[in-house]
Amino acid sequence: MKLETDLTTIKELADRRDDENWRFRSFLKHGRISSRAVDSMTHELNQEVSSLIDCTQCAYCCKVLRPSLSSKDIRVLAKALGKSVEEVQAQFLVKGEGPGEFQFNQLPCPLLKDNRCSVYDHRPEQCRSFPHLHKKRVTSRLWGIIVNYSLCPIVFNVYEQLKQRMNWRG
Ligand code: SF4
Repeated sequence: MKLETDLTTIKELADRRDDENWRFRSFLKHGRISSRAVDSMTHELNQEVSSLIDCTQCAYCCKVLRPSLSSKDIRVLAKALGKSVEEVQAQFLVKGEGPGEFQFNQLPCPLLKDNRCSVYDHRPEQCRSFPHLHKKRVTSRLWGIIVNYSLCPIVFNVYEQLKQRMNWRG
């Protein structure tokens, strides 16, 4: 499988293929392929593509996205950093949109050091789960997938491979 991993190229292609990507979304949502089959193909491709891309060489999501942190995430971080929950909140976080949710207070993430997550083994659940392509009901997540297509090489390549596997011609 030939993969595209250069973020500049990916951004250019994302701009150029924006209409095409939304049309493919409609095909996935309303076409003849069942949502279960879309899940199965996406999960398989995600495993394949993820095994070929080293996220620690990219870390672009940590530079442009703000994950939501639950109180459990914050407790885990506090323990890993040897700080109190209040210290972690004051130093690294701001209130998020949902009740009880927090977000990092700056971009890139303040815990990204030398392009690597300094708390990798204790990172928040949303960081662990990103880009969420292992989750069920892919056809209900396509809006987020198109948003992440331009900023995550895994998402870009999985979406492109899906078009190929389904022999989609636009
Ligand atoms: S906690 Fe780690 S994985 Fe999550 S955004 Fe920050 S640097 Fe990235």
